Amino acid sequence: MSREEVFTYAKMSYDNGLTVGTSGNVSMKKGNVMYITPSALPYNEMVADDILQVDIETGEILDGTRKASSETPMHRYIYLKNPEINAIVHTHSTYATIFACAHMPIPPVHYTIADIGKSVPVAPYAKYGTEALAEHVVNTLQGSNGVLLANHGVVAVGENMGDAYRRAEVIEEVAHLAYGSHTLGSVNPLTNAQLDDARQSFKTYTSN
Ligand SMILES: [Zn+2]
Repeated sequence: MSREEVFTYAKMSYDNGLTVGTSGNVSMKKGNVMYITPSALPYNEMVADDILQVDIETGEILDGTRKASSETPMHRYIYLKNPEINAIVHTHSTYATIFACAHMPIPPVHYTIADIGKSVPVAPYAKYGTEALAEHVVNTLQGSNGVLLANHGVVAVGENMGDAYRRAEVIEEVAHLAYGSHTLGSVNPLTNAQLDDARQSFKTYTSN
């Protein structure tokens, strides 16, 4: 089940243009195990059996014939430090990554960003796949549901796969809108109170 779910969302991130080629990765936590997409395998060639099972504590591959995603250390570290997070979507989606390359947090120009936080902050640069990058991401998350990775891409998290995926989409959408607002020369961020108000309404909305 978990293997199929990770595969389904990995394919969705590809089909919906959040990732291209072999970039990005998706994982889900079940107990002490995480299910994660393989390294360097194009999405259009991936099948559910390619999803690996990795011990979150030790990093040992428990099941799977492929090589685990190069960002496995980052996924493990996020789960180890944030017990409430059960799913992670990492992408290089274009507009969000433009902000990451510019070292600019995505400003709250649209109310949907309240699902992530007050903005989408930028974690300092470290080379992909390194423990340094994993530490930067965890230190920057701090209760946010998404971060930008400087000169690299996006991480979105959630209590379940659907939440993490939706947030990866929201981050890209708001980045696109913020980019457009910059282009028009008029960026109008919402206030903290307006964002809190929107977030409250999401809770009612999703529970109904
Ligand atoms: Zn990446």
